[in-house]
Amino acid sequence: MNLTRREFGRIAGAGIAAQLASPLRAQQPTGQNGSGKVGYCIVGLGRISMGEFMPGVLQSPNSHITALVSGHRDKALRVASQYGVPTSSIYSYEEYDKIRDNPAIDAVYIALPNSMHAEYTIRAAKAGKHVLSEKPMATSVEDCKKMIQACRDANKKLMIAYRCQYEATNLRAVQLIRDGKLGKVQSIEAAFGFNIGHNEWRTNRKLSGGGPMVDVGIYCLNATRYLTGEEPTDLRGYSSVIDHDGRFNDVEESLSWSMKFPSGILANCETTYGAGMDGFFRVYGSEGNINVDPAFNYNGLHLRAQYGGFRNGTRIDEPNTSRGPYQFTNEANHFSDCVLNNKTPKTPGEEGLRDMALITRLYSTCGEHLGTT
Ligand code: NAD
Repeated sequence: MNLTRREFGRIAGAGIAAQLASPLRAQQPTGQNGSGKVGYCIVGLGRISMGEFMPGVLQSPNSHITALVSGHRDKALRVASQYGVPTSSIYSYEEYDKIRDNPAIDAVYIALPNSMHAEYTIRAAKAGKHVLSEKPMATSVEDCKKMIQACRDANKKLMIAYRCQYEATNLRAVQLIRDGKLGKVQSIEAAFGFNIGHNEWRTNRKLSGGGPMVDVGIYCLNATRYLTGEEPTDLRGYSSVIDHDGRFNDVEESLSWSMKFPSGILANCETTYGAGMDGFFRVYGSEGNINVDPAFNYNGLHLRAQYGGFRNGTRIDEPNTSRGPYQFTNEANHFSDCVLNNKTPKTPGEEGLRDMALITRLYSTCGEHLGTT
């Protein structure tokens, strides 16, 4: 199922109406005590939570939204009425620790600026809640380790929201490679970037931890790891700033890097905040290749592949117009399943830690450094 934003809004609207039609739903017993649905507290009402994750949850059979944390009471009241969340389950950031006393909250979804993920994860674990945190996991390896430890100590699940690992076209590419269709993979190219505006928290190192590398370059890094199933042993990069217009006083504008994997696979990737750069990856093997472009968008992904010889081989051209469910719904389904059935998430804290350790190393090769909290 590939939905345009308009179609998705219509379906999401129907879902919201369904929640509103049964106002008691948000107060019903939660996943922890028997409804079969995990109740999520949304922490941060920004672009990703309101635009993608919350509509995605509406389509999930085992997830629902039961609480909100926001610094803007008016916005929170509006969103709460849309999603059938009782006003008693709206919290300010100052009141965050009170989520401990709300049995309708099983898990938190953290969609705050990067450097805040660690603190809000650790406080959630201490409040007895499972945690789904947005990427990048944090802004330092130390914080990633503290997040993992806090969730372990509280016996709570921790998952990092690497949505592409729950997305059908990316999974199809992985399967073609695992099935040996490309023969021996030799090299990968990947890129993802965009032209950022002024006055964004993303260019403030204290809040972001770094530039486009931690924000969107991380999709390329993570993709090379799930496509190969290997961990890079060597990596090095170049970073630069071209636009001296105040946006990049604190973080890199662009970063290009190369990696080598244990089997010998080489990868070349790039990311930028200085130009539109639709995310893509290309995988070249001895028997064929895959081109996914776009690869990291919310909708409209497109896979092309050819393998088994140019004359009699196979050619695939798959726009994902019929692929579903929506990747954010898959992500919520998966985490809720882990919570309900005591499973380990496919992208646990350790997955976020690995990327953070690699980015720290990569930054050191080009004179950049990750911010700390
Ligand atoms: P955003 O700026 O739209 O939202 C951030 C939210 O945090 C807002 O509600 C804001 O009010 C709140 N906030 C609380 N304290 C803040 C502070 N001190 N400064 C700024 N905002 C503060 O950002 P976003 O694009 O929604 O990104 C949020 C997180 O989600 C980031 O970690 C980002 O990397 C991640 N993200 C993930 C995806 C994805 O596809 N998985 C896409 C975009 C963003």
